[in-house]
Amino acid sequence: MNRRIQTIVSGLVLTAAMTAVAAPETVVVYSARNEQLIKPLFDAYTKETGVVVQFITDKEGPLMARLKAEGANTPADVFMTVDAGNLWQAAEEGLLRPVKSATLKANIPANLRDPDDQWFGLSVRARTIVYNTQKVKPSELSTYEDLAAPKWKGRLCLRTSKKVYNQSLVAMMIHEHGEAKTAQIVSGWVKNLATAPFADDNSAIEAVAAGQCDVTLVNTYYFGRLIEAKPKLPVAIFWPNQSVSQKEAGVHVNISGAGIAKHAKNPAAAVKLLEWLSSEKAQNLYADVNLEYPVNVNVKVDPTVAAWGTFKQNLLNVREAGRLQTSAVKLMDRIGYK
Ligand code: FE
Repeated sequence: MNRRIQTIVSGLVLTAAMTAVAAPETVVVYSARNEQLIKPLFDAYTKETGVVVQFITDKEGPLMARLKAEGANTPADVFMTVDAGNLWQAAEEGLLRPVKSATLKANIPANLRDPDDQWFGLSVRARTIVYNTQKVKPSELSTYEDLAAPKWKGRLCLRTSKKVYNQSLVAMMIHEHGEAKTAQIVSGWVKNLATAPFADDNSAIEAVAAGQCDVTLVNTYYFGRLIEAKPKLPVAIFWPNQSVSQKEAGVHVNISGAGIAKHAKNPAAAVKLLEWLSSEKAQNLYADVNLEYPVNVNVKVDPTVAAWGTFKQNLLNVREAGRLQTSAVKLMDRIGYK
């Protein structure tokens, strides 16, 4: 054999050898959770297990539309997004499959996962009261419902009802209070507005800090981000509905989470990824990067988050946020909550 042929032959042998070594196992994730929040986790998972996580990120709407359009041909194994309202929607549209996993059940409290096992919470976000410390004493605050009282007239800021966060909050209030009473409460909020609803939680907190209004309802991680950037802002967190005498007491929480795609090509590996994400090892990384709370109760919260104090959470299953979403949207629309 001349040298050139020898090179070609050894090249072929090498190619054959490489093909014989199985390509690394791959899990494909469609994620509405931002790249900067998930990439460090997936890198850590690959380092630990050798499993490669491929992902695309987009808003939940386009991702769900894509899953639907791709049908059985989808490459997606996992769908990841924020808010139980969105996860419920994905399950409702038949985009997910039920998963039997003792690990997920052990790591994730029952109220933070689908009772039919189609999706699982991986971090907890609390939707709570933020107030201006120069204008409001904590003793003036008590419940979500109280923000409908006349004493808050012209003092409340809210984010728009078009965002799933407020749809979920109102949906869970419908579960607790029924439609009629929830309509009264939400109508009281709207009457108390200092200004038109904001496009995002951040603007609502900034308005409170600027004195445009005195109180608002937001997810705590927005408060955390803002206060890390501007520690002198006169704003603080208040945990509402903490009195034991209240029937459905507790702070309203929601989740970011994930489910296994109905047409997953690698469902077993996808379940393993979710199990790992819910484990003590991964939970800090998952929650802390976004100043959220771990779902796994064995995991300590980030010190920045811990500084806001502890609270009793409302234990209503977050699936209600999805189940009553349409009722919530209609109710807010009827009342004129923009
Ligand atoms: Fe958010």
